Amino acid sequence: MKDIQPIVFEGVDSSQPLIIAGPCSAETEEQVLCTARELAANGIKIFRAGIWKPRTKPGGFEGVGAPGLEWLKKVKAETGMYTSTEVATRQHVEQALAAEVDMLWIGARTSANPFAMQEIADTLAEHHADVPVLVKNPVNPDLELWIGAMQRIYNAGIHRIGAIHRGFSAYGKHLYRNMPQWHIPIELRLRYPNLPIICDPSHIGGKRELIAPISQQAMDMGFNGLIIESHCSPDEAWSDASQQLTPEILNFVLNTLVVRDSRQSTENLALLRQQIDQIDNELLEVLSKRMRVSREIGQYKKEHRMPVVQAARYNDVIRTRLENGKEMGMGIDFLRTVLMAIHEESVRQQIEILNDRRP
Ligand code: PEP
Ligand code: MN
Repeated sequence: MKDIQPIVFEGVDSSQPLIIAGPCSAETEEQVLCTARELAANGIKIFRAGIWKPRTKPGGFEGVGAPGLEWLKKVKAETGMYTSTEVATRQHVEQALAAEVDMLWIGARTSANPFAMQEIADTLAEHHADVPVLVKNPVNPDLELWIGAMQRIYNAGIHRIGAIHRGFSAYGKHLYRNMPQWHIPIELRLRYPNLPIICDPSHIGGKRELIAPISQQAMDMGFNGLIIESHCSPDEAWSDASQQLTPEILNFVLNTLVVRDSRQSTENLALLRQQIDQIDNELLEVLSKRMRVSREIGQYKKEHRMPVVQAARYNDVIRTRLENGKEMGMGIDFLRTVLMAIHEESVRQQIEILNDRRP
């Protein structure tokens, strides 16, 4: 994907994050138009609505299908907003292109399926389609699968391509509906610096109150935009009711977002970065000193035929460090992870000494 092109729409300020908003699903013409009017009045330029809905369980609302495309046309004609919808099959792509939907996205269940992705890519290529396409991350945390899905679309001639980070499913109950696993989109950014990455806080959070903090985090991490579900009466939504915001609340959330300018690199920042480089070097020196001492302890244990791990000592080390670290204002979970990793490496090194037959 050497020639990724930016996704810009005429009349949409490309120096600002790309904001896409609209209901999870198109339900009725009235619901689509009333939501679209309110969003447009608040300055939203790109409208989303699911016409075909992939549902995990049968019996859920599976979308209104092709008739809903007529409502999207009305949204465009009446409000001037650009429109976008999810496609998962050849027929969806053909019908969405025929209805002149301005941008397509591919859902998380579809992007996990290379056969479906190839079918979509082939259809786009056959129709010489020239629409931007956003690809959601697959439900499972597999960066290669996500990249593969995008490559298929890119190879079909679609160079206005972007990624949507919508979180990854995990077993059991969690704060998030889908775990953000931020390191995955960050790695994607490092591998494809020109690829726009849009955050979907609605499907990550699954709850209204999480939309603002997740959106802010995405902005702080330099994401290029947000896709947020918004419905004129969210409690009555036919899908994803708990995560949709009214256009009014969405407007409030967007107005309170702090968008940082990632292009600015001030002198102060350069100085702070120098400091970080220095501190990291010191950290490495301290760590290697600790490992040296730990190896000496290993030698002692070997000579005195002592076991490598002594539970009481281990608990003591972790407890006292956690207490100290907490007083210094550090997060307990983070500290525990670091301390356990250091201890694990010490144990590994001591076992190496124990197994070394040399005197
Ligand atoms: C959606 O955007 O409404 C949707 C179904 O999302 P996902 O594919 O991320 O679950
Ligand atoms: Mn949804």
